[in-house]
Order: sequence, then C-alpha cells, then structure tokens
Amino acid sequence: MDYRKERRAAFQATVAFRLGPGVGEALGWNARTTIPTLATDEPIRLFAARLRAEVSEWLYDESRPVALEECEGRWRPAVRALAANPLDVPSVAESVAAFNAHIRPMERGARTRGKYKTHRLSILTWAVWKGILPQLLPMSDDLVRAFVWDSLAFETTLPVLKHSLGAIKAWHQRLQLRVPLDAAGDFRRFTYSLSRFQGVQRRIIFPIHARAVRSLLRFQLEPHPPCPGVAGGCTVCRLFLHQWRDCLCAALTTVVCGRCAETAALQVCDRWENYDGLAGYRRFEGGSLINIKVRKNDQIREGHRPRIGVSKDPSLDINDQLTAFFREAGLTPRKGCTKRSEPQAPCLVCPPMFPRSTRGGKAFDLSRLPRSDEVSAMIVRGLEHVGYDPSLFSGISARRGGISTAIEKGVPEHILWMQSGHAQDAAARRYVRLGSPALLYDTWAAFGL
Ligand SMILES: [Zn+2]
Ligand SMILES: [Zn+2]
Repeated sequence: MDYRKERRAAFQATVAFRLGPGVGEALGWNARTTIPTLATDEPIRLFAARLRAEVSEWLYDESRPVALEECEGRWRPAVRALAANPLDVPSVAESVAAFNAHIRPMERGARTRGKYKTHRLSILTWAVWKGILPQLLPMSDDLVRAFVWDSLAFETTLPVLKHSLGAIKAWHQRLQLRVPLDAAGDFRRFTYSLSRFQGVQRRIIFPIHARAVRSLLRFQLEPHPPCPGVAGGCTVCRLFLHQWRDCLCAALTTVVCGRCAETAALQVCDRWENYDGLAGYRRFEGGSLINIKVRKNDQIREGHRPRIGVSKDPSLDINDQLTAFFREAGLTPRKGCTKRSEPQAPCLVCPPMFPRSTRGGKAFDLSRLPRSDEVSAMIVRGLEHVGYDPSLFSGISARRGGISTAIEKGVPEHILWMQSGHAQDAAARRYVRLGSPALLYDTWAAFGL
C-alpha cells in the first residue's frame, strides 16, 4: 500500500473505532476530499447523542438554496408563500426565526455554503480522530493550527486550507463565537508561511485575442458530397453543428467579456435582436443585445446588457452566425416566452443558447441549461477546432481576452466595466442612458470584426 493510502486507512480506522460499535461499522467516506471526511454528519450526530453532547451548533446546515434564491428573481410570489397568515401577528421571535431561516443564509452564495459545509465536516471528522469533539467549539487559534498541521500530512494544498479557514471563520461568525485567527494580519501571515514551501508557478492561460475570435468565426463546414443535411442524418453536418456551437460559444463569451457561468445561463431569448435599432439608433441597426441577468459580483441582480454590432465583413458577423446556428440547431425562441417581461427570471419555454450535446453527441440536450464547466469545455474545444493548442486556454480565457482586447483598443475603463460587468459606475451609466448606446458597442468594435 502506498504511503497516502496507508495514512488514510489508519485515520479512518481510528475514527471508526472512536465512533464505536453500531456507528463506526458502516461509515461512508467522502471520496473527493484530501482530508478524510465522513460522507454525512449522521455518525457524528449518533456519537454525540451517546456522549450526551449538544451538537446542533456543530451540525447546522444552510447549504441548500433557500426559497428566495430558488425563485430566481420571481420573489414576490415566493415571499407570499413564506409570509405569515395576514390575520396573525407573529411574535418578534417568530419573525427573527423566519429571517434567520430565509434571509440569513444568503449572506453567502449557495455554492460557497455547500463547500463550507464539507469543510466543517472535515473538521468534525478530524476532531473525532483527535478525540476532542466535545472541546471543538469555539476553536482556539491553537486548535486551528493543529488542524492545519494534521491536514498537511494528507498533502492538502494551500487553496484548500484557505477555504477551510474561511469555513471556520464563517462558522464562528454565524454562531456568534470568537473567530479564531482573526486579528489584523493573521490571515496574511498564515498564507505566507504556507506559500513559502507550497508556492508553484502557475500554468499560463492565454486570453482569447482578437485573431482567435476571427478564427472562431471563420470555422466552416468542410466540403462534402451532396447530403440530406443534419435532419437527414448526415454525420459530417451533425458534427459540424456541434463544433460550430463550441466556436460560437467561445466567440460570444469573449466579445461580451463573459464568465462561463454567465454564458451557461443564457437562453436563446437572451439575445435581443436589433434592440438599439428599434429605439431609433440607426447606426446600430441589425446589432443585438445580450441579456445577462446576473453577474458574479452583481449581488443586487442589476444584470448587464453588452452589445454586439454588425460586422464590416459579413463572414465575421456574430449576429448572423447566431441566427443561422439557432435555425440549424432548432433553437428559436418559443411561443409564450417571458424573457422581455421578466428579463431576470429564467424563461420556462425557450431552449438554452448553447445547449450541451447529449451523450454520444447525436443531439442537443434542451432539457436543461449547460453547467459552467460544460461551457468552459465548449470554449476550449472551440479553440481546438480552429487549430489552437487547448492546453494553453481555459474557460477564463474568454473574459480575459475580451477585457484585454478592449483595453488595448482604448475603450474607457468605466465603459468597459459596464460591458464586462466588472463594477458599477453610476455616472457612466446615467450618461449612456441619456445619450446613446454607442459606447457599449466599443468593446465589440475593439475586435475589428
Ligand atoms: Zn452533410
Ligand atoms: Zn424565452
């Protein structure tokens, strides 16, 4: 047995032994953590009951999305469903409890909460191994140091340990306990001392530059004998359609400086054709707006509306290509579309803008939106289809390429921010609303398409 497996097995055996008969026998382990971690908190719950320890504080769980997150912007009916009967006057305690259940978890995103929950379970498992579960909370600075040292034996990396520390802090804050290692500079010193031996050179990830975007838009179906087309079962055409999706996904994400998660959330009806043209801006006739409903740091759900103009070279026109791709792939907006009336809520009838391929790649899966890692894979594959080395790019290359191309072409930073959703600049926003969307087209224009 190799060193790591041996250490893991010994750790797990000790935990099973300490948890005792009836609990320790059929333990499930989380297969994805470097520090051995129980798969669920149930064994700890049983163990604590035997110790007659009060464990609700160790085990509180708010990792599930709350109703007000799940409603994705349709919050009025969601609140209505949660609110007390109009004839009742809830006590202060009842209202506070409701606040804590429905609002407070959203201090952090649902994904972060899920990760923190796993980290807490790692720490609880460690505390069982160490035999200190009843003394775990509040964690002293020394307990944190002991945990970090013991974790290192499992070759845990700095990013994971930083997350652990974040989880520990959040846990204590939530329970209103003294937060360990929270003095000024503590965190910095902690990361410094670990990076001194764990620091590594980062893999270079290139941005998708303007030339690459042009290559992506020039991707073409290879000539082949007359065929019945995708619907008639031509495999060459079908393969092309899926590869074209990859190329367009990469090009569009780059030009709007998007993150993979934002592209993943796009539906076909999030492209608003000729939006500014209809508002009387002749110069932008034929362009389109991409409705990005929520961006990462956009915690107030303001959304962003980057623009795509009409290209001088028709073969490089993203608008035309999107229209053609949607038509070929059967992805047109459907009747009953709700996007224009509720731009921030998911439309229940329209398909994704860049649907994932079904297993085997025979068709597009319209039943759900792609995940952001699936979009990231599309972007990298797109670059591969047009001859770039996929090992030099990742999903983040799109956003980097968009922002750096725009900066190189002198797009003013506050306008770029509006296009890229980087930050909010109230003055610039007002200007654009009053004047013209011209500046919003500058990021697209930077690509010289
Ligand atoms: Zn064909
Ligand atoms: Zn729709």
